[in-house]
Amino acid sequence: MVERSVTVTVPAKINLHLGVGPVRTDGYHDLATVFHAVDICDTVTASEMSGAAGGVKIQVTGEGAQFVPSDSRNLMAVAAELLAQHHGISPNVTMQVHKRIPVAGGMAGGSADAAGALIACDSLWQTHTPKAELDLLAAQLGSDVPFALHGGTAMGTGRGEILTPVISTGEFHWVIAFNDGGLSTPRVYSECDRLRAQSKSEVAFPTAIPTAIPTVPEALLQALRAGDPKKLAPELSNDLQIPAISLKPSLQRVLDTGVELGALAGIVSGSGPTCVFLTRDANHALDVAARLSGAGVCRTVRTAGGPVPGARVTHSGSN
Ligand code: C5P
Repeated sequence: MVERSVTVTVPAKINLHLGVGPVRTDGYHDLATVFHAVDICDTVTASEMSGAAGGVKIQVTGEGAQFVPSDSRNLMAVAAELLAQHHGISPNVTMQVHKRIPVAGGMAGGSADAAGALIACDSLWQTHTPKAELDLLAAQLGSDVPFALHGGTAMGTGRGEILTPVISTGEFHWVIAFNDGGLSTPRVYSECDRLRAQSKSEVAFPTAIPTAIPTVPEALLQALRAGDPKKLAPELSNDLQIPAISLKPSLQRVLDTGVELGALAGIVSGSGPTCVFLTRDANHALDVAARLSGAGVCRTVRTAGGPVPGARVTHSGSN
């Protein structure tokens, strides 16, 4: 039997700004966000065995694999089925993912795997799907999937799926604090709505329910154009940070500790619970990472650089 396989590398994202607007009639929130892809990557392999029974099989290994479904609920399976249906193909594929992006960590790991599955199957099946069609399929799979295809640094509007590239110079160096236990994204958005609804009372929350669609601050875009981490640091913000801390109060200690240990700034990544810290350069990142690791306030500490490209084929072959 001949096996053909394609391997795709796909990055995690952090949000440098996450402005959350009012809840829409479809249940999503309008966003104004800046996505930034960092070099913590999952690898997704699609393989096809000639003569094997059809269908889509899922195999998951690596960080947090035990928390990821390995059946048709896995977003890689949904992605492979969607692409197959788009081209009128009956799929006969095994999708393997090796995870390094934390599961339910606020770094869009599931979305990354879905984007990886689209690119891997498109290459395996030689369907040559035009980019605009891949973007539409990606948006059907989830709000963060188009960005995982795109990578780099980009502004996201709508529910996050409408992307505009952002000019950024050089590399930014991050320390990433992985925390125990995931946070459910819908739960964090609901907590945001709940806190906002209460904000006229005594609850300390900076904004009431917003009436307008949010925008990305110009100062953040300028800092990215300048490639200057000191200018970027005060512009990092995330409307889901207070809701995430409300559900997982230990995150405040992680954020405070990273900044006490010398990071330029720290924020919760997306809906959390991963926290990210901006540093001056690669050496500073290593120094902050070592100190944060020693402080024992989070599960694992890593350094990461960004921006990096989106989902891309890194190996293709037969045996
Ligand atoms: O699009 P995705 O399936 O990744 O979104 C997961 C959940 O996050 C949604 O079901 C919704 O509860 C919440 N969400 C939201 N507004 C967005 C994106 C996600 O409320 N813009």
